[in-house]
Amino acid sequence: MTRPLPAILFDAADTLLELTPAFPELLSVSWLGAEGAPSAQDVREALWAIGAEGHWPDDEPDADARLAMWTAFFHDALRRAGGADSHAAAQRAARYALDPAHYRLYPDVLPCLDALRAAGHQVALVSNFDGWLRDILAAHQLTERFDEVVISSEVGFEKPRPEIFALTCRRLERSPAECVFIGDSLVVDIDGARDAGMHPLLIDRYGRFPDHPGPKVSSLDTLMDLVSSLPLVTTEDAR
Ligand SMILES: [Mg+2]
Repeated sequence: MTRPLPAILFDAADTLLELTPAFPELLSVSWLGAEGAPSAQDVREALWAIGAEGHWPDDEPDADARLAMWTAFFHDALRRAGGADSHAAAQRAARYALDPAHYRLYPDVLPCLDALRAAGHQVALVSNFDGWLRDILAAHQLTERFDEVVISSEVGFEKPRPEIFALTCRRLERSPAECVFIGDSLVVDIDGARDAGMHPLLIDRYGRFPDHPGPKVSSLDTLMDLVSSLPLVTTEDAR
């Protein structure tokens, strides 16, 4: 049987959904209050630096340990951003960030997913996240919109490791060349998907990567058009 339409795979955080307020605002004066809190831009730059060093929090299934880990992470971010050395402020922000009710979908997500499914595409989610991502998906009626949900903490591999992309392909019964991967991280999503043999597509919602040389969208509104124009190798071509 041939299935000429590519499978469409999505990253979760900052591709489909985001914490509101996002980390930079949550850890800044606007949410924590004026006392010793840094600016959102200083926090943003501190988080990028931490991410570039690979010091992002790991997966942690135990809720208490997860709160402690995120509190320590936010505490480090606050210090690096020049804020007050406050464990209490970091813990308050961590409690907020770990509540599924505080995540929102970008408004283009449901229309895009529904259009892709209506056109006959398989749709999957591949996320570096803890299992409680499933609570967020359920809260936003996302669970039933994906043919497969692959979460790093559940499968034991994080993007950009090739194993997590290969596992997703096996579950979808597709080859990597039949998969388009949409994500917001150059290293985790774009390099990872490309190295796995997929077609990477950067979503740059905040204009961070004006010089990115590869396929790119700024929202999901144009995704259907772009997917149909990509030069994909399909099972049909391989006959
Ligand atoms: Mg992301």
